[in-house]
Amino acid sequence: MSKEHQFDVPPEAFEPKAWYVTRTDANAVLDEIRAWVAEGNEPHLWRGHTHSPPPPLAMPVYIGEVYLPAARVKAKRWAACPCCCPRDPKYGREPGKVAWFPDEQVIRLMGPDCFRALNPEGHDIAVANLAKEQKEWRDKVFLLGNLTKVVDAVALLEDARLIADDFDELQDTLHSRLSICAPKIWHHIGKGVLSLHRSEKEVYRRRDGELHLRPVEVTVRYGSVSVALFDPDSRPLSRKFTKVIESLYDIDYDDVEAALSALSDAERAKAAKTLDQCFQKGRELLAELAERRRCLSPANLATLRAWGREAETPIRFFINRDGSDLFVGARPSEVMRIPLPASVDVVISELPALTGLSSQLGASVGTTRKSA
Ligand SMILES: [Zn+2]
Repeated sequence: MSKEHQFDVPPEAFEPKAWYVTRTDANAVLDEIRAWVAEGNEPHLWRGHTHSPPPPLAMPVYIGEVYLPAARVKAKRWAACPCCCPRDPKYGREPGKVAWFPDEQVIRLMGPDCFRALNPEGHDIAVANLAKEQKEWRDKVFLLGNLTKVVDAVALLEDARLIADDFDELQDTLHSRLSICAPKIWHHIGKGVLSLHRSEKEVYRRRDGELHLRPVEVTVRYGSVSVALFDPDSRPLSRKFTKVIESLYDIDYDDVEAALSALSDAERAKAAKTLDQCFQKGRELLAELAERRRCLSPANLATLRAWGREAETPIRFFINRDGSDLFVGARPSEVMRIPLPASVDVVISELPALTGLSSQLGASVGTTRKSA
């Protein structure tokens, strides 16, 4: 480290400022510390910082992290650390630790892992506790921001479940009809890709060297279609909706703030997970339902119908919707009628987005983000 980069640290920085008797006292200055550093000031010059090296046997409490401003990180102008090099630039690439030392009642702003060299166990315990607190904080923010969306989500999923019920029943009827009038249809459409079997002639060279033509069967891609409704192995959707709705009932609180303060940290973590998973699963189910609906769209039916009467189709197939009736069969003259429930035309909205998914929230308690 070249001397020119050394900090000229004033003696008062090293004096112990035993002002932080309790954790509450320490927490109370967290915002002030972050603002000081975010404004471009040296961490070691913050009025409450104690720059003397920590006693190796001390058990610090890491109450948060502190980020150097982005421009400073980019310029690699690091901050001085009381642990290892009080006058040299040392940390800042990773956020520094705001460490409260209860025995000395002081706060030190230090390199993220520096204290580990002095006291690995004390450091690791403090890091684990901070991570736990940060997770709890993220859960709280996530739940506060999103639990109020549960009541609407339940109502929406209840509506969707009724429609899914109708589709499940329709799907059963469709299977039983198709098993009579077009038993092999799934084999030909199951991948969602329609093809034609075309006879063509290919040129080949005989052993005597002359060119000749011979017939070959080629498969030509015709188009793609939505087919979920025709899948003979699909499971009923409505039961899946019921499962999600029942899980959401567990976190459907009238008074979110009151409920949250009554929950333990572990219960909050569980609620955050339930919320996250239910919305994710609910979205998947709504997409599945929409996909079944798409199978009955005029464009989808028209593609299937046109393909089914092509001369080169691998299977004769007819399907047509007329108002509230669906007709299926091998050809227009031999069809079976399937009545459609009114709900097949109902469009279901999306679930509201969740803000700050608990797994994606910032790493630090009330932190000033790097990009700020
Ligand atoms: Zn250090």
